[in-house]
Amino acid sequence: MSDSQRTTAVEKLLNREWSDIVSTLSDLVRIPSVSWPAFESVNVERSAEAVAQLAKELGVFDSVEILRSPIPGSSELGQPAVVARRASQNGAPTVLLYAHHDVQPPGNDDDWESPAFEPTERNGRLFGRGSADDKAGIVTHLFSIRLLLDLVDDVDLGLVLFIEGEEEFGSPSFDAFLTEHRDKLQADTIVVADSGNWSVDVPALTTSLRGNVTFALTIRTLDHGVHSGMFGGAVPDAMLAAARLIDSFYTANGSIAVAGLAVHDRQVPDYDEKTLRHEAGMLDSTTFIGAGDLMHRLWSQPAITVTGIDAPPVESASNTLLPSVRLRVSVRVAPGQRAVSALDAVRDHIAGHIPFGAQFTLEDVNLGEAFLDSGVGPAARAARAGMRDAWGIDPIDMGVGGSIPFIATFKQAFPDAEVLVTGVEDPDSRAHGTNESLHLEVLRRAIYAQTLLLWSLNGE
Ligand SMILES: [Zn+2]
Repeated sequence: MSDSQRTTAVEKLLNREWSDIVSTLSDLVRIPSVSWPAFESVNVERSAEAVAQLAKELGVFDSVEILRSPIPGSSELGQPAVVARRASQNGAPTVLLYAHHDVQPPGNDDDWESPAFEPTERNGRLFGRGSADDKAGIVTHLFSIRLLLDLVDDVDLGLVLFIEGEEEFGSPSFDAFLTEHRDKLQADTIVVADSGNWSVDVPALTTSLRGNVTFALTIRTLDHGVHSGMFGGAVPDAMLAAARLIDSFYTANGSIAVAGLAVHDRQVPDYDEKTLRHEAGMLDSTTFIGAGDLMHRLWSQPAITVTGIDAPPVESASNTLLPSVRLRVSVRVAPGQRAVSALDAVRDHIAGHIPFGAQFTLEDVNLGEAFLDSGVGPAARAARAGMRDAWGIDPIDMGVGGSIPFIATFKQAFPDAEVLVTGVEDPDSRAHGTNESLHLEVLRRAIYAQTLLLWSLNGE
């Protein structure tokens, strides 16, 4: 079959299935499957059951299971994941398709233009929590398989559908799950549909992600609070020590000044300052920080952000020198550097720069590895070819400033597998934010491209 016969066949099927695709996605979005402990876990169970049912209806899998693994160091089980498997035939490879069915909390209801769990179409986009992140990933997998089954008489390709239920809560049982169910997840190619595209017109393969190190940092200068009038000016309070320390993380222009935090060397596409300003909601007067190409700063350089602080609230503040303050610090790690080596660098920096002989404790550490792929494997080439046909334009290789630590865990568990990071988001999707939405034409192209990828992996 020629390429154009293939694309015509896929387009015809996509048109036939389109209303079912959108209604399947909408039904999934209606389940408020927030995986955070403060939310009803029954909804995560319901969404796992809904996904398992959809997988069964494909009629292609040898087994469809809902599985949970224990969270290490706790007596609790992780959230339910769906694993569906079909063995490969005639020596064909096996592809694992990953997405997650849990979602972030909705945030403030009043900030949503339409209810978070009532999918609503406006201007070609489907609004709702999870519409993009990552229920559209699930739908991409389900329907690309369904299309493949219609297009090809003999599907030899082995298929594993792995839909996790706790990605938005940091995948606490993921390592245990990979160990426990290793046999069921074994694959030659792993497609992680949980990232984005360069724009609604330009598809992308994500070839790097930053890692993440977070920790709580307590800074102490006194053993109890004292009067700021009697002692202020001679005795240092913990807030001053914290402010000076935070400042030492950065150079004058806001680049990172911590020795030992690596920078990854890569070419990046140009990005318009105005667009980034708009996307980030920067005030007109706010200036950028850092140095180098904007995308290089976001994808390939480290960043440090203080994301929380425990100190007395303003309403109840008294005239007291604070004896201690506690910070939550988030470090984004450049691709190529191990998280633990970044943690060591930051710890050494703190020990060397904390002012006034203040004492510190660093605890509650969480490490997430970066991802870096050469993007030259055979599946990556096939994925790019599929994107080119589906979108009518060459895809780009992009980095992402955020972190998806389980991808590195996948790579460690299956070192011989080629990992492809794809996705259905675009820069306006606002994953994790209020008014999250999915561009429906991007979903159509994502299913289109992945169908061509599966077809190509299946062989002629
Ligand atoms: Zn996600």
